[in-house]
Amino acid sequence: RAQRALGRLTGSRETELHALLAGSCEREQLLSEEVAGLADALMAKDSLVSTVSHEFRTPLTSIIGNLDLVLGESAELSPAAVRRIEIAQRNAERLLAMVSDLMMSADSAVHVHPRRTDLANLVEASLGSAQAHAEASQVRLTTDVPAPLWAEVDPLRISQALDNLVSNAIKYSPDGGTVHVSARVEGGRVLLHVKDDGMGMTAADAGQVFTRFFRSPAVREGPIPGTGLGLSITKAIIERHGGSISCSTRPGCGSTFTVELPADAAAPAL
Ligand code: ADP
Repeated sequence: RAQRALGRLTGSRETELHALLAGSCEREQLLSEEVAGLADALMAKDSLVSTVSHEFRTPLTSIIGNLDLVLGESAELSPAAVRRIEIAQRNAERLLAMVSDLMMSADSAVHVHPRRTDLANLVEASLGSAQAHAEASQVRLTTDVPAPLWAEVDPLRISQALDNLVSNAIKYSPDGGTVHVSARVEGGRVLLHVKDDGMGMTAADAGQVFTRFFRSPAVREGPIPGTGLGLSITKAIIERHGGSISCSTRPGCGSTFTVELPADAAAPAL
């Protein structure tokens, strides 16, 4: 109809317009074929990543388990050997964490099993397991979370999200400093902040941090390890709970990641 109407309006330019529209249909067809091809390639890549990372898990778990056993008999080892085995173990664990991230990012659907959970407990556990990393990086961990802080969440998945945020906050504070985790309930939502006074980011970087495989130019060439997957997984987890995550940051002035989750309606307001 549009072609006919245009034809009537333009009279002598009808043939020209037909050619133009036919051309644009062809381009549209080509474009949709390209998009379909790209989607297929992405799916194939995800399935390859998922298979390969799955295959990596078994030998890595065996390496970590065996190093554990050797360390269990550390009385028979020299202190230097213990130190080297501990380094190997830490790196194997880091590799395993990266493999887990890769596996999870290849699996497009994040599955959550929410139940009534005390978020204050999860924050405490997350800070507890980050303590060694923080000490090694000369970072102080502080917290201001009212306990209990009930929410209807999947404790394993939310712990994973918290671990990612806390470990990033420590990792991107190369000169040490303080990482502060706080939370409060406001208007039926839990607001949770993970704040650091580390290297921060530009506004352009902050706009992309939740994109898979994104690493800011400032860290890409540097020594801080990472895959660029943690925050995209964290975002998927939070959104799967009906929540949201945002980042406010300035280069050299630290970053604050804010997570918003539905509070547990059954729990008394705090
Ligand atoms: P990774 O840390 O493995 O690179 P993430 O997805 O967790 O991947 O983070 C993506 C990028 O966002 C990081 O590479 C880094 O450039 C930036 N980033 C994340 N957290 C912080 C932070 N707390 N301070 C500064 N930059 C950060």
